[in-house]
Amino acid sequence: MREPALVPRLQPFSSTIFAEMTALAVRHEAVNLGQGFPDTDGPEKMLKAAQKALFGGANQYPPGPGRQELREAIAKHRAERYGIEYDPNGEILVTAGATEAIAATLIALTETGDEVIVIEPYYDSYTAAVAMAGATRRVVSLAEGADGRFALDLETVRAAITPATRAILVNSPHNPTGTVFTRAELEGLAKLCVEHDLIAITDEVYEHLTFDEAEHFPLAGFPGMRDRTVSISSAGKSFNCTGWKIGWVCSSPELVAAVKAAKQFITFVSGGPLQPAVAYALDEELDWVEILRGSLMAKRDRLSAGLAEAGFAVRKTEGTYFVCADVRPLGFTDAAELAYQLPERVGVAAVPVKVFTDHPDEWKHLLRFAFCKEDSVLDEAIERLHKLG
Ligand SMILES: *Cc1c(COP(=O)(O)O)cnc(C)c1O
Repeated sequence: MREPALVPRLQPFSSTIFAEMTALAVRHEAVNLGQGFPDTDGPEKMLKAAQKALFGGANQYPPGPGRQELREAIAKHRAERYGIEYDPNGEILVTAGATEAIAATLIALTETGDEVIVIEPYYDSYTAAVAMAGATRRVVSLAEGADGRFALDLETVRAAITPATRAILVNSPHNPTGTVFTRAELEGLAKLCVEHDLIAITDEVYEHLTFDEAEHFPLAGFPGMRDRTVSISSAGKSFNCTGWKIGWVCSSPELVAAVKAAKQFITFVSGGPLQPAVAYALDEELDWVEILRGSLMAKRDRLSAGLAEAGFAVRKTEGTYFVCADVRPLGFTDAAELAYQLPERVGVAAVPVKVFTDHPDEWKHLLRFAFCKEDSVLDEAIERLHKLG
């Protein structure tokens, strides 16, 4: 057999920081604020709807584009919340989570010779999916502002565009920084996409989870963007069901057909009995999501205050599950070094932001903590982190 077995273009992706940190957390019985999944269930009636579908015969392959009632619920949600209309028949595709949607989109729309702009720090699946597609990534950094917010610098995006640029991946609300792109940032991005004829691939999985005055605007809603944007979202983060892996794509008939061509030979379909439950949740449980949003905002405040008391310089978080904290005030220079020590030293696990970048030196001072956990779990982590000082 050829050694190593893994093809060169995927070798950088053979292990993930989450597996490493979770293993360390388990070994040292640490409070795990590394991985971003909630520790409570979603709306009870949504779970009941899944149970009903499971016992009601919905156990064979759903239709290729996804079940009709889910595609209709997605269309209604996009229209009512954002004023963007999609035809459930041809402009919406249900996927195995946002992750498959992103991979299938890149595989369908980009290939060797194409460049894809990725904004760092990035969600880890983006770079792997660009590599699977055979395309090349061009990475631009968010700018860390004196106000603690990570901003989008449109000039650095413009500078990364070349004649080979085919697409740009945009994640807002943004994991790991918690930035929610402003209307002005998105407007500028939209203009660049139109000017350079780029496809935008938007990861909107935290679309409902914005705090304070921050508001989520889909890039597809800006002039000239609807038919060049592949809008991707998912039920996992909105309804506390990250294990269900029900995601979706909304775009023009041409782009959806292209994504479907790739998707049908990756999973074909998935999550049959969960699809009607997500349709129910999108139709009926947005009030529940509003309560979740409020509770996450309080958890953001709780963890941010605790981290500050423990000696970290805490950055601003406008949405998502995450807060970033600068480790330098505690006397450390490399957050990754600290992240590897933390589980044993104080019994907490977190993730270094630099692993989500192509420029680790510029991002080495930051740790990402997840606050989508019970208050008692956050309090225990904070108490333990005080031992660092
Ligand atoms: C969690 C997450 C995803 C994955 O979504 P799934 O629906 O579970 O595949 C994608 N993008 C970001 C930014 C995430 O945080």
